[in-house]
Amino acid sequence: MNLEKNQEYEMTIKDLGNEGEGIGHIDGMAVFVKDTVPGDVIRVRIVKVRKHFAFGRAMAVLVPSPDRVEPLCPWAKRCGGCSLQHLSYEAQLVYKWNKVKNCLERIGGILDAAAYMEPIIGMFTEEERRRVDNPLIFANVCEKGHWHYRNKAQFPVGYDREGNPVTGFYASRSHDIVPVISCGIQAEISDEINGKLQQFICRYQISLYDEAKHQGLVRHILTRVGFATGEIMVCLVINGEELPHEKEWVEKLKTIPGMTSICLNINKEKTNRILGDRCKTLWGQDYITDYIGDIKYRISPLSFYQVNPLQTEKLYEKALAYAGLTGKETVWDLYCGIGTISLFLAKQAKQVYGVEVVPEAIADAEHNARLNGIENTRFFVGKAEEVLPEEYEKNSVYAEVIVVDPPRKGCDKVAIDTMIKMQPKRIVYVSCDPATLARDVKLLGEGGYELTKVCPVDQFPLGFHVETVVLMLKKEVAGKMFRQLML
Ligand code: SAH
Repeated sequence: MNLEKNQEYEMTIKDLGNEGEGIGHIDGMAVFVKDTVPGDVIRVRIVKVRKHFAFGRAMAVLVPSPDRVEPLCPWAKRCGGCSLQHLSYEAQLVYKWNKVKNCLERIGGILDAAAYMEPIIGMFTEEERRRVDNPLIFANVCEKGHWHYRNKAQFPVGYDREGNPVTGFYASRSHDIVPVISCGIQAEISDEINGKLQQFICRYQISLYDEAKHQGLVRHILTRVGFATGEIMVCLVINGEELPHEKEWVEKLKTIPGMTSICLNINKEKTNRILGDRCKTLWGQDYITDYIGDIKYRISPLSFYQVNPLQTEKLYEKALAYAGLTGKETVWDLYCGIGTISLFLAKQAKQVYGVEVVPEAIADAEHNARLNGIENTRFFVGKAEEVLPEEYEKNSVYAEVIVVDPPRKGCDKVAIDTMIKMQPKRIVYVSCDPATLARDVKLLGEGGYELTKVCPVDQFPLGFHVETVVLMLKKEVAGKMFRQLML
């Protein structure tokens, strides 16, 4: 049977794809359908046919899967933000655990990845925790469970099709803005700030950015909240140098309890990038502060900071445990951002070197070391794949432990090759994309490192992304540990 566009069929969803889309088969042909979950029997309308697969739209759920839940968010279907809202939280976690396992096996060439894997760390309320009973899941108890976990919101601002001003989120695979008035995963305060922006725009007729024409002023609103400190930053991204009525904007915001920094970011480029390179503080400080564990961090608008602070603490604790420090080690922390992991490690290492490409983040990292009275760190601005080889070739630096936390594309090959040359005993890889993690695990494996431990951490409940910490040991070290265990 040839699948035909606009035809409807009955199909059972068997699996979830990379981005959380349901997958079923009709006559051996894979059909991808958004907003469906394994176990659903659906009526699907085919919307696109390719040579080996097709895309469909669920017209009706005939028999719902036991893992299907009603999304709490009224915008769930249109908003491109949370793709797993209709899947029970436990099933989301099992999906992510399996995603990591499958990548390590299929891309990483690991034979039985499950043998190395710890349970995925998920976010549960006290009451929910009593009910979780799955060996693949570890419950981190969080007051709000897996809701309102994000400390950073970036809402696009623009016009809807009727020309009304809107803030919200992009619809999936498009730049149409869905007007989300209240978001279930953001810190609650961001809803109030968005409301104030709407009032400000209407009251003063502020122009909004039109992507197609590259005209209009306000492009995005960025809010950041320090969960431990309650400090709030609001940054308007504008296609210009000045915000009309900026005093009134400041007046509107500064009464919000916790408001600490009100700033502008200048982005006049025709680009998909949200932030431009320049910021201007309108009121308060140029940054906010927050704690992870007992370490205090300063965060500037341009610096990367993990978006889920409750889980980040678990992630860093795991990375620290995998690093196995005794106080004598020299450690390199590549892709270090504002020094978050570096400072966590510094407490238990002799010396930590951090490398990061964004200069503002390194300025924060240096400040953060001083802020915490930490004296055994040194930070380099530059690309990991340039700084590390240079320091290794010219200055013969070495490391007992290397920690990496690269962006989604993973580590550069030159960085991997240099790490292998440096022969650290341990490599701790913190990853936000299991596919590139698996690719790099394979390269490190070929360079003499053995996969030893894997722990997925759910940094993004309701979304399809998953964070993972991996420990790789130099082969003779792994062998020695194994022999000791056998004695
Ligand atoms: N470890 C930090 C940051 C991780 S995010 C934390 O947990 O907060 C990845 C970081 O890598 C970002 O700060 C990004 O600016 C930086 N980065 C991206 N490409 C890089 C490269 N080639 N070399 C060094 N840093 C890079």
